[in-house]
Amino acid sequence: MISKELLEILVCPACKTKVVLEGERLVCSNCMRKYPVRNGIPIMLIEEGDKALQDEKS
Ligand SMILES: [Zn+2]
Repeated sequence: MISKELLEILVCPACKTKVVLEGERLVCSNCMRKYPVRNGIPIMLIEEGDKALQDEKS
């Protein structure tokens, strides 16, 4: 589980917008990229966020 403190400092690496925890993923409300959380560690990589974007378009 991600702590509130950590969540508050996490921003989308693509657009620097704060991300929100949505289920098991961190979602950027600005560019809609979704970042996975693995073993409690948020994977804040643009590449990872892009995967979610592509999944939804196809
Ligand atoms: Zn973003």
